[in-house]
Amino acid sequence: MRLLFLGTGAADWPNPGAHSNGGRRFSSLLLDDAILIDFNAMSMDAVREFHVDVDKITDIVISHPHDDHFNMKAIEELAMQREASLPPLVVHVNTKAIERSHPSPEASGRLQLAGYLPGDSFECNGYAFESYAANHALEVPGELSAHLVVTCPSGERLFYTLDGSWFPSRTWGRLRKATPVDAVVWEMTCGTLYDWRVGEHCNLDMIACEAKFLTTFGFLKPGIPMFCSHIMRGACGDMEQLRKDVNEAGFIVAEDGMRFTTTP
Ligand SMILES: [Zn+2]
Ligand SMILES: [Zn+2]
Repeated sequence: MRLLFLGTGAADWPNPGAHSNGGRRFSSLLLDDAILIDFNAMSMDAVREFHVDVDKITDIVISHPHDDHFNMKAIEELAMQREASLPPLVVHVNTKAIERSHPSPEASGRLQLAGYLPGDSFECNGYAFESYAANHALEVPGELSAHLVVTCPSGERLFYTLDGSWFPSRTWGRLRKATPVDAVVWEMTCGTLYDWRVGEHCNLDMIACEAKFLTTFGFLKPGIPMFCSHIMRGACGDMEQLRKDVNEAGFIVAEDGMRFTTTP
């Protein structure tokens, strides 16, 4: 599978505009040129900066409807830039959030909303998604957050876990029995800080602990690439030290514009 990180920052980063210049846009990932996971108000600039072919994108899967992961206006802009003769762009988002996510009349016909709830499985043009409940609060009553596992047509599997602190017990229970994955994108909002946000986010020590558990369960194959994304600005004061600490723990700091290819 081919990964392109369009953004790797948490919600405290300022919008860098057209050029990321070593900063971080809000988190978004492009898988195999075709599937976007999360798409926010900064993502269209990343699409332009990193020369993404919008016509190849078929689906957007939103992990949860927080502003730094989901922006309907940006999704409409992307949909309108795709070739008009293509099938509609399908946007998979929490079922409850659909109620407040109305595409404009101009965009109707160019995109289609599909609801899902944590625990559901769904298909995106040959990519099979599983969703798992996350420990991450949303402000709108009834809206829920999910971790995602996607199986690519190649058979390779990616675990995408933004946002959430320790996994809820039912998610541990399901991951323990799930088919192993070949790569992980971890949420490392707090970096190496012991920050108050750990109630619904992770720091490096937490993901190292979770990774150790999931390797013991057999869900993580040994030696797979594990990227740390969704890093808050406040944790990036000394990036050289952070990269060193992350590498020593067995992870890779994701950067905006970073590409990575895994082979089956
Ligand atoms: Zn977030
Ligand atoms: Zn969030």
